[in-house]
Amino acid sequence: MLIRFWGTRGSLPVARPAQAIQGKIARALVAAGGRTFADEDEAHDWAQVNLPFSTYGSYGGASSCVEIEGGDGAFVVCDMGSGLREFGIDAARRCKEGHPRVYHFFMSHLHWDHIMGFPFFGPAFDSGAEIIVHSGHPDAEEALRRQQEEISFPVPFDWLRAKFTFITHAPGDTFEAAGLKVSITGQHHSHDSYGYRFEKGGRSVIYSTDSEHKLDNMDAEEAFHAFFASGDLVICDTMYSLGDTVSLKQDWGHSSNVVAIDLCHAAGAKRLALFHHEPTYSDRDIQQMHAESIRYEELVRADRPPLEVICAYDGLEVRV
Ligand SMILES: [Zn+2]
Ligand SMILES: [Zn+2]
Repeated sequence: MLIRFWGTRGSLPVARPAQAIQGKIARALVAAGGRTFADEDEAHDWAQVNLPFSTYGSYGGASSCVEIEGGDGAFVVCDMGSGLREFGIDAARRCKEGHPRVYHFFMSHLHWDHIMGFPFFGPAFDSGAEIIVHSGHPDAEEALRRQQEEISFPVPFDWLRAKFTFITHAPGDTFEAAGLKVSITGQHHSHDSYGYRFEKGGRSVIYSTDSEHKLDNMDAEEAFHAFFASGDLVICDTMYSLGDTVSLKQDWGHSSNVVAIDLCHAAGAKRLALFHHEPTYSDRDIQQMHAESIRYEELVRADRPPLEVICAYDGLEVRV
């Protein structure tokens, strides 16, 4: 399976202000130490090797949207955050080259940051497109219709031309969709949220965002050990550092890098992707949290096989 991250920011899409770009340029110039480059290509080559990701790259600012390739050829997409707009543009391009116009969406929940890309999803206007929305929430259709009511948006849902099907799954169910074996589980979050486990050919990807893990509720955590079990890639809500979740942000419905690593260790997962980044965190903050996560994983690993901790960013592709 190939996993493509179109949106990785939590709660609110962000665009970094000019000062952030200016900071990157200044740090790059200092790091270059007076070196000269023949052309932009040579500068790119040098920067790629010598600058940290937070200076040369960016984690991006679009809200949750993750594509999974590798099923029966239909599009498979988790959540409809603002990253969905870019996905829709790319999907339309691929459809012109013959890709089937079938879209399976898997909704973690219906909070605004997870559905706000839908009004800007071009393929919804394609009368030849089929859009199947899988959700744990019976009110998924209502949520999508409501955000396109006239008071909020100029294009009503009924103007969309694609053929829509909404399917509600019960937590604990396992079903087949788009050629993948899919399991759904309930998660602790305001108005509930759901995690999905996708399996194909002995490989597994887990999408588990907007999920608060209570350190004192071990029964619930054991259910997650089973859900994440031996996962090749676990995409996990790691919005805050542990200090924040314990002191300031308990009951805000999100989790920390530390809790995600503990869960993945207990589950024997192979790779963890930090996801749903806090909107106020700069690229340097996120990179630092990533580095601390790697250090923490090494510290608590003991005799377990290593868990690779990666940090999701808009545009990242991961193969499992
Ligand atoms: Zn969210
Ligand atoms: Zn939420």
